[in-house]
Amino acid sequence: MAKFFEYQGKALFKKAGIPIPQGEAVKTPEEAREAAEKIAKPVVVKAQVWAGGRGKAGAVKFADTPEEARQAASEILGMEVKGLQVKEVLVEEKLNIDQEFYAGVIINSARDVRAPVLMFSPEGGMEIESVPEEKIAMMNVDVMRGLRPYDTLNMVRSMGLKGGSLRQLADITYKLFGVFRAYDCRTVEINPLVLTKEGKAIAADCRFQVDDQAIFRHPELGVKIGREFVKEPTEFDLIAWKFEEADFRGTSYVAEMAPPEELKKGGYVGYHGIGGGAAIMGVDALSKVGLKVADYADTSGNPTASKVYRVVKLILSQPGIEGYFLAGFMMANQEQWHHAHGIVKALREELPKRPGFPVVLLLCGNKEKESQQILKEGLADLPGRIEIYDREHVYDAKFLASRFKALVDEYRAEQGR
Ligand code: GDP
Ligand code: MN
Repeated sequence: MAKFFEYQGKALFKKAGIPIPQGEAVKTPEEAREAAEKIAKPVVVKAQVWAGGRGKAGAVKFADTPEEARQAASEILGMEVKGLQVKEVLVEEKLNIDQEFYAGVIINSARDVRAPVLMFSPEGGMEIESVPEEKIAMMNVDVMRGLRPYDTLNMVRSMGLKGGSLRQLADITYKLFGVFRAYDCRTVEINPLVLTKEGKAIAADCRFQVDDQAIFRHPELGVKIGREFVKEPTEFDLIAWKFEEADFRGTSYVAEMAPPEELKKGGYVGYHGIGGGAAIMGVDALSKVGLKVADYADTSGNPTASKVYRVVKLILSQPGIEGYFLAGFMMANQEQWHHAHGIVKALREELPKRPGFPVVLLLCGNKEKESQQILKEGLADLPGRIEIYDREHVYDAKFLASRFKALVDEYRAEQGR
C-alpha cells in the first residue's frame, strides 16, 4: 500500500469538503515557530511519519506560544517513531476537544464480503481494533448501489447521536467514503474525528493509504514507487524501481538495507538472492557468520538477463562493500542462463576495477549446466576471488556463507581494513 503523511491526506480531505484544522507542514523548528505565529492560537505539533501511535510515543506535543512550538518541533524532529525518522512536523491550531470519534473505511477481502467496509464509532482516539464491536457501526458497501447520505445518517444515529453533531459527523463520514473511492484507497481513517466544545466536527488526524495496483491511475498523488514500502524510498530504491516500472518480464525486488554513510564503515557485502524465501535464508546465513547485507535483492520469475544485469550493477555500486554473494538457494524452474548472462556482463565490467574482490555464486535449476558454463567461461580471466557453486550445494547455506566469509576476510586483510 502506498502510504502518505497525515498532512497530505488532510489536504485531500479539504478538497473533498471535510473540515480540517488550519495548519502547515514544516521541516525546521524555526519554520514551526513561524507557522504557529501565523496561526496565532495555541497549536499542536505532530510528527509526520508513516505510523500511528504518535500520541503515545510523545511525538504529538502542544504549544501555547510560537516559541513553545519551536521548542516542541526541535524535540520531535529527528526523533524515531516505530523505527522511522521524523523529518517533518505538522503545526496545527489546537482543537478544543469535547468528544473523539472514529470514522474509517477498509477493504474486507473475505470471500463472503469482498467490499469496502465503512465504520463509525463514538470511541475515537484509540486503535479501532481495541474498540468493542457493539460500539462500532459497520456497513459493507455494495459498490454497485453505492453509499447514500442516509446510510451514514443511520450509522451515526445508531451510535446515539442527534441534532447538529449527527448531521456533521454523518456528512464527514459520507465524504470520507468519497475520498476512499476517488483515490482507490485500501484504508482511510479519521481517528480522532473530533467534536469541539464549539460544536464543530473536524478531522483531527488522517490515515490514507492507496492500493499499489491503482497508483498508475493517480499521477496527481506523486507516488514514486507503486509497491509496498515500509519506509520512504531512498535514491538507491528509486533507481531499483526504474528496472521494474516499465518492464514486467520477471521481477526484481531491491531495497537499501543500510545508508551509504553506514556502508563506508565496513563489514557490508552486496547481496543478491533468487526467490523471496531463498533470499531470506541467505541473509540469515550471512548474518550468522557476521556479515551484514548492504542491500536486499531478489530476482525471480524468469527475469531477463538485462534486468539481472541492472540489479547486479546497482548492488555493486554501493560504496565500500566487500563482496558480492549470489544466493540461488533453490532448484529454480526458471531458465537460469538469463541470470548467468546478466551476472557475467556486470561482473566483467566491475571486477577489473577491484582486484581480489570476493564473489560467491550459487546458481541451480533449469538450464543449470549451460548456466554454469556461462559463469565459468565468462568469469575465468577476471581478477576476483571467485567461487562458483551448483546443485550439489543448493541448500548448503552454512557452507557457502562460511566460504564467502573466508574470502571477505582475505580481501579485508589485503586491503588493510
Ligand atoms: P496518533 O497517535 O498517531 O494517532 O496521532 P493523533 O493525531 O491521533 O493524536 C493523538 C492524540 O492527541 C489524539 O487522540 C488527541 O487526543 C490528541 N490531539 C491531537 N490533536 C489535538 C488537538 O488539536 N487538541 C487536543 N486537545 N488534542 C489533540
Ligand atoms: Mn490518530
